[in-house]
Amino acid sequence: MTLDNSRTKIIATLGPASSDKETLRQMFLAGVDICRLNFSHGKREDSIQTINIIRELNAELGVDVAILADLQGPKLRIGEVQEGTVLENDAIVEFVSEKCMGTAQKLYMSYEDFPRDVEAGDAVLIDDGKIKLEVISTNRNNSVKAKVIYGGPISSKKGVNLPNTRVSLPSLTEKDVDDAHFALEHDVDWLALSFVRAVSDVIELKQMIKRKKKNTYVIAKIEKPEGIENIDAIIAEADAIMVARGDMGVEIEFDRVPLLQKTIVEKCINASVPVIIATQMMESMITNFRPTRAEANDVANAVIDGVDTLMLSGETSVGKFPIETIRNMHKIIQYTETNRYNYNRGVPPKPGDPGIIGASVCYSAAITAERVGAKAIITFTEHGSTAKRLSGYRPKADIYAFTPNRPLLSALSLYWGVTAFYFEHQIQIDDAIENSIAILKEKGYLKTGDMVIHVASTPLKISHKTNMFKITLVK
Ligand code: PEP
Repeated sequence: MTLDNSRTKIIATLGPASSDKETLRQMFLAGVDICRLNFSHGKREDSIQTINIIRELNAELGVDVAILADLQGPKLRIGEVQEGTVLENDAIVEFVSEKCMGTAQKLYMSYEDFPRDVEAGDAVLIDDGKIKLEVISTNRNNSVKAKVIYGGPISSKKGVNLPNTRVSLPSLTEKDVDDAHFALEHDVDWLALSFVRAVSDVIELKQMIKRKKKNTYVIAKIEKPEGIENIDAIIAEADAIMVARGDMGVEIEFDRVPLLQKTIVEKCINASVPVIIATQMMESMITNFRPTRAEANDVANAVIDGVDTLMLSGETSVGKFPIETIRNMHKIIQYTETNRYNYNRGVPPKPGDPGIIGASVCYSAAITAERVGAKAIITFTEHGSTAKRLSGYRPKADIYAFTPNRPLLSALSLYWGVTAFYFEHQIQIDDAIENSIAILKEKGYLKTGDMVIHVASTPLKISHKTNMFKITLVK
């Protein structure tokens, strides 16, 4: 469990603004569910220290805040640039494949095949699209010339997006493989893969995780046009999807982003796959103590759309108000959930669906919970799939997952509405039902007179398939 009692979960990206233990403690108390380490930045020693602090706080506060390691993927960047460099409109800039100190005339590009992959007329966007150039020629070897369309100041290592170019870099770069090994050795709960283009990218990372004999879950970050084209196959394979609006809003026209976000969220809910909305949700809180009205709207709309998790980036990693940002986001989530939420979503299972029995039990439990006014749906789970399925139906009743699998406790923090507890293996279903109610009563989540629904498998071997639900009046 975490200290956030709302259904919609919060990911906070950690960085210099949030790496000391006391700030992080306050962020946990304010309702963070998952901490994100962004492997595009930061040093190994810092990551190890942060991971240790998160685990210490989990033990001290009795919570299970998860750790998400975000792999950079094939992010393109320019190299070092002389201070004060400004690209003027209409100027010609040469992108070269050999490292050099960048100037307004010549910039290093960290992508060796750029001259071979690009065509005249392709756009080159730098620094989240703030600067735009158009390719005028390439020597197909080591140099590309481009004209500045919208110029401006430029600094070292800024990101580059090529919205019209099929980038031939592998999805898992050497750096990603290294970072993934490091993250797996430190037993993070979730690995996010950036710039996913095809389902094979997700499969490759999952195979690596399997070779390392880990159960880490994979988030596919959707931010490239190819990822959008292949979204159905990616949703079917990934453990969760992130709508990474930062790069997405540069890679495709920004006017398409709002509807794409809604379409992806709907597809994910219908497939019971958790979905995260990322980037610029509370951006102005990097410098201000409260969000703008438009940001409050963005957060509330994502909640109403039914997303599992909202993600903060610069707001909590480098911002001036990391704790207040979590508090304010939490406040918007709570108000919106309390006053306007459409429960019972997702698509009813159809004959022939894989896992039709478990899905039908979960679906019926969610619907029945509303009919009988159940306070909670309780499930016993070994790998989290029943909790995930129940969460996908967005029931009005609270979802409590009991598991003997300790690492699963934090991994479940990302799922909409799920609160997880450790539970010793139980032999008899009646004991499991009685004991789970006793624990929830003791913790104050249930009281005498509440109605609850248990979703389980009989005989009680929790790795078996879910095949029953039972309604109980709490004594
Ligand atoms: C994004 O582009 O929205 C995103 C979440 O990715 P990153 O922060 O790694 O650029």
